[in-house]
Amino acid sequence: MRRVGPHSFTEIYFAGCNPSFIETSDGYVMIDSPQQPIDAVRWRERMEERAPIRYLINTEPHGDHISGNAYFPHVTVVGHVKLQECFERYLYAFGTLEEKRERLKETDPDSVWLVGHPDYPASNPPKLTFTDDLTLHVGNHTFNILHHPGHTAPQTSIHVPEEGVVFTGDNIFYKCRTWLQECDPWEWLDSLNKIGSLDVDVIVPGHGDPCSKAYLKEQAQIVENWVGLVERFVDRGLSAEDALKEPIEVTKQDPYPLGQRLFMHNERVTNLTIRNLHKRILERKAGRAA
Ligand SMILES: [Zn+2]
Repeated sequence: MRRVGPHSFTEIYFAGCNPSFIETSDGYVMIDSPQQPIDAVRWRERMEERAPIRYLINTEPHGDHISGNAYFPHVTVVGHVKLQECFERYLYAFGTLEEKRERLKETDPDSVWLVGHPDYPASNPPKLTFTDDLTLHVGNHTFNILHHPGHTAPQTSIHVPEEGVVFTGDNIFYKCRTWLQECDPWEWLDSLNKIGSLDVDVIVPGHGDPCSKAYLKEQAQIVENWVGLVERFVDRGLSAEDALKEPIEVTKQDPYPLGQRLFMHNERVTNLTIRNLHKRILERKAGRAA
């Protein structure tokens, strides 16, 4: 658990994203939920021992940010309107609960009994939604909830001015592999600029250590490198399939090829990245020509 502001904390050592919370004078506000069921229930019980949890704000629809919501059944979830729409689809993108239980038997036996547990029957999608932005006041804290599309379409940053902190989800991967599997890279670059204009000392990324605004340039460069690589394939008239047969040096685009906690990412991520960017670049060219 890492302190990132006077009343703000993030957990960067869990399997999954960096779930975070702010301790206000009127209870807790959480940013994303722990991915592993056992981590989620331990968090909730420890917090509720001290104060109620007022809100849980999701930064994006990827499973490592939302699958723990179910273990906070009485907490109001806040999310972008597009996140509400796609919540269930993303939640089950990796299979049914039964399949999840089977996977956890291998990877996290302590969590197995909590999958489909009768105390947690609902997935707890966002109930309070917004389109452009939303400001919540809880105790003495302000939560500026900002739509910053990029890594995903509903991508959301939470700026807490009293703490000098912004929580960005996966628009920022600090020194670990950047996933561009469904991003709009141009919106992403625009959102990184917007994050840069916030008056903050600390950025809490979706993965990796908390950092400062100095890292934004490096993150933007990684997105630009991948776009540049795929643009050169497109300019040569290569299809996505052909492009994937070309030699692709990941570390030339992204100097941090390992995931958070040094977990190895394979070709699958590269393939998804190339396919997505190839499609996006063609669409953009077609839009310009029209
Ligand atoms: Zn993500």
